[in-house]
Parts: sequence; C-alpha cells; structure tokens
Amino acid sequence: MSAFRERLAASLEARRAQHLYRQRLVLESPQGPLVRLGGRELLNFCSNDYLGLAAHPRLVEALQQGARDYGVGSGASHLVCGHSRAHQQLEEALAAFTGRPRALLFGSGFAANTAALAVLLQPGDTVLQDRLNHASLLDGGLHSGARLSRFPHNDLDALARKLGRLSGPALVVVDGVFSMDGDVAPLAPLAALCQQHDAWLMVDDAHGFGVLGQRGAGSLEAAGLGGSEVPVLMATLGKALGCGGAFVAGSDELIEALIQFARNYVYSTAMPPALAVAGRAALQLLSDEPWRREYLLQLIARFRRGAAQLGLPLAEVGGPIQPLMIGDAARALALSEALRQRGVLVGAIRPPTVPAGTARLRITLTAGHSEQQVDQLLGALEQAGAARHAA
Ligand SMILES: *Cc1c(COP(=O)(O)O)cnc(C)c1O
Repeated sequence: MSAFRERLAASLEARRAQHLYRQRLVLESPQGPLVRLGGRELLNFCSNDYLGLAAHPRLVEALQQGARDYGVGSGASHLVCGHSRAHQQLEEALAAFTGRPRALLFGSGFAANTAALAVLLQPGDTVLQDRLNHASLLDGGLHSGARLSRFPHNDLDALARKLGRLSGPALVVVDGVFSMDGDVAPLAPLAALCQQHDAWLMVDDAHGFGVLGQRGAGSLEAAGLGGSEVPVLMATLGKALGCGGAFVAGSDELIEALIQFARNYVYSTAMPPALAVAGRAALQLLSDEPWRREYLLQLIARFRRGAAQLGLPLAEVGGPIQPLMIGDAARALALSEALRQRGVLVGAIRPPTVPAGTARLRITLTAGHSEQQVDQLLGALEQAGAARHAA
C-alpha cells in the first residue's frame, strides 16, 4: 500500500510550498517571559500564560504536594476508579467560583468542547457557531449530527435572521474571547437574543477565564451573566491558570448527562490528580494576587501606546492577545523570523488556523513581563520594520 505514503508526502509538500509548514520549538526552560531555545534566551510574547502562573512557585509546590499525596497517574477513567478527592475538590471549587451548581473536569479543552456538543446535540437540532470559533467547537458541532450553521464573526443581525428561520432546538456557541483576534463576543446581547428565540447559549472562555471580570471569573463575570443566561460554560486550566485540563460548568442535569453519556469522558483516563491539586492552587492565586490582572492591563495599555507611535495598525482590542495583521503567510513568517533574530519570540499565525489572506503576528502579553520587556518588544518591532509589513 503506497497510497498512504504518497498521500502523506504530497500533503506535506503542498503545505511547505504554501509557506504553511509548522515547526515545533523545543523549549529548554519553564514557560515565562524569558524562555531558552537552542541554548539562547528569547523574550517570549507568544504564550497563553496570561497571568504568568505556569511556573509560579506555589503551583510547582502544589503539584509536588499533589504527587506526594496521590502519586502521578490517576490509573483509570473517572467512572472506574480514577476520580480522586483532588478532582472532586477542584470541581467543587470551580463550581463555586463560576457560580454554577456543578463543574466537570476534562483532560483538555478540546475534549470538553467535543463532549459537551456531542451530549447536547442530536440530529434535527441546529448548532449556530461564530465563524471564528475554536476548531474544537467546529469539530464537535460537525461530529454531533446536528446541522452546523456558521454566522459571520460577532454579527448579531445575521444570527437573529438565522434563529428566526429555525424551528427545532438551537444551540448558539461562541468563544468568549476569540483566540486569534483577541476580541470579545457581545455576550449580553447574544444572551438576550438566545432567550428571545428560546435557544441555549454555550460560551468557550478559554482565553477569558482568569483574565476578565472583577475576580478573574472570565467573560461572563465581565458581562454580568450567569447560568440562567448562559447554561453551558467551558473554560480551560492550561492558559491563564497555568496548569492544564479544562472544565464544563452548568446545571446538575448537564453535568450528570456528561458523566453518563460523553464518550470522551467515560472512556478516557482521568487527568493526574496532582494537576487537580495545582488547579486549586491556581484558583486561589486568582484571589490572592489580583494585582496580576491589573498589571497585565497596564502592560497592554503601554504596548498599545508604543505600537501607535510606531504606526502599527493594531485592532481595537483591549485584552492580552494583540494581533498584528500582515495578510500574506510568507511575510508573516519572515517578520516572525526577523523578530527572533532580535531576541523576541512571536508566533506567525497562518491559515488554516486563520482565514486565508489574514496571516498575522499573534502577540500575547502576560503579567510575567516587565515594562522594560514590553519596550524591548516595541524596539524589535521597529527594527524589524513591522509597520511596513502590516496590512
Ligand atoms: C486552547 C483552546 C481550546 C482547547 O483547550 P486545550 O485545553 O488547549 O485543549 C478550546 N477553545 C479555545 C477557544 C482555545 O483557545
């Protein structure tokens, strides 16, 4: 059978020719504002560790304590004998923190999203998704058997028209903060629209949880919305919380249905219990170190002021994801490389992660950065001629 080999070779070659080939970096240090790569220290502006918690001593200590108390492996799925007190306590803490009756842990956000969509939806339903939703939401929608309908990014009128034409059950799904554009969904009017049409709303808050809202409880806290307006909340623990894994929060009925019917929950090994211990320490840090959210906002403002002075056309977004639109994939890659030569690591995000012709530098700021490091980023952008390449 050479068909598979030929197909693999052809697809890899095509990807290379389109300047879309991906290469993994091999980090030799913890995640942080400075990372070591190939023996060289680089300023890191591409991580989702928005609060700078991924290598926080209290998380490291919690993980170690968790390993001493529970060992390393969970040994089984949650339904067999892999569900420990550490998981249970984190679920209870997440439910309390998000103000919902229950929360359920998953090994990843990808798994949590596909599980929720698979359990909620069936053929005959419609799932309406923002065009820029995360790949896991789109995949989950496709696999659910429901009719998948995508609406233009943040376009409430287009969504209203679609909802108006529907009869059967409808689930509207959006990212709270869009991962590659950094803008937020208009959650309050979205929730009102869903209630008007008797549709359920699900929010994926992978990039808002920990960062937005008075207590860092995320996009819904910032929008003043709760479980009655947004029945399904998914958020991850691997970004601002610096750990790994994810959860779905909602009603007792929703969580019980996931436990009973979500195949990628039932047939999957529970996350290591020590990671759940670390997750609880991260939640505690959100309230113990609120300065991280404040300081992050200051850094964002500083970066945006400096970028404006350099003539960089940043979009009107106020969060830690600050994309610089380039357009052409090869140019985005070249600019990312030019920054790397100046000691700054910024990812070039290319199709199919983003729509064709919208390749960009995805600059992310974290509370781990200093003001001086933000100024270094601005200096590198200037030297690399970023303003000339921007679209
Ligand atoms: C990262 C991300 C996910 C997936 O979460 P993982 O825990 O990394 O699998 C889901 N949704 C969005 C919007 C994300 O950015």
